[in-house]
Amino acid sequence: MIVFDLICRDGGHKFEGWFGSSGDYEDQQLAGLIDCPTCGSRSIEKAVMAPNVGMKANRRSVVSKPSVKEEDASGSAEDAQPVSKAVEIPTEYNELVGKLAEAQAKMLEESKWVGADFPEQARAIHYGEKDATPIHGTASTDDVVELEEEGVEIMPLPLPVKPPKSQN
Ligand SMILES: [Zn+2]
Repeated sequence: MIVFDLICRDGGHKFEGWFGSSGDYEDQQLAGLIDCPTCGSRSIEKAVMAPNVGMKANRRSVVSKPSVKEEDASGSAEDAQPVSKAVEIPTEYNELVGKLAEAQAKMLEESKWVGADFPEQARAIHYGEKDATPIHGTASTDDVVELEEEGVEIMPLPLPVKPPKSQN
């Protein structure tokens, strides 16, 4: 058995779902067999595991990708994320998350924080109204979906980013 933290897109209700395997979850989710125990919504996705964060619900940290055309690597990277209900987080895990945070900070060194202006600025860059400089900021889940539908290349960041103002 495997347990996933799930969330309904309609109400943002979090709940746990038990499955025989990660594949079972995918099958049931695709078939619309999972519903939210609170509101009955069948629009269900896995809740993102974000350690040690007070990230606002429904907001993701995002970064614009350099507009270098690569092969389409979108694939199925978001499918079947392993999740854990570990009670105690081992120190190695925290160290790795620390390294991930360092790597992310390095990646964002040249990038400009634009906060909630991200969707607007990412579009301006995409449509050539602004120079293509790397930016990062926040976007709502809806914004992320819309930007992706418009073909604006963005990448959800694994860890939330503190706005520069609040870093002291
Ligand atoms: Zn719900």
